[in-house]
Amino acid sequence: MQGLQKALNRVENEIVGNPYETAVGLTKRGEVLYVRKGDKTSTTFISGRKFLHTVTHNHPGNCSFSLNDILAISTSNLPELRVATKDHVYSAKITKKISLDKETVKELVLDVDFCVRLDFVPLINNGTMTMEEANKKHWHEVWTRFTKKVNWFSYKRTKRQ
Ligand SMILES: [Zn+2]
Repeated sequence: MQGLQKALNRVENEIVGNPYETAVGLTKRGEVLYVRKGDKTSTTFISGRKFLHTVTHNHPGNCSFSLNDILAISTSNLPELRVATKDHVYSAKITKKISLDKETVKELVLDVDFCVRLDFVPLINNGTMTMEEANKKHWHEVWTRFTKKVNWFSYKRTKRQ
């Protein structure tokens, strides 16, 4: 696992400043299997490659996982998906085998998404939170709550090394 962590630090330092998304797929031992460049907002990043263990990618907008990121990992066999941003690294894992389709997962997430919006709106209206802060915090808050809601998803945010 140490080899993987080292490789991830190196790869994430390399891609984090890119103005477009770049996805890198690695094996359990930290060997790079592929690199894929996407546009500013999206990249089709998970391949069905044998020995694929962790896929990391950067978010130029500095946000946590998008809805599509989590839909992608929850309907794949990938053990770990990561996002690297200027300050943080986000990690998502599917901890149990689930057999939910994309639409079902999406509905579960959108319920949480709705609650977060409901909580943020008054804070924006009374000036406690700016729109910019709300946008930045939104998905981190959604995934933090989502991991408590379902028993097959784990989510972690750490400072980037
Ligand atoms: Zn993403």
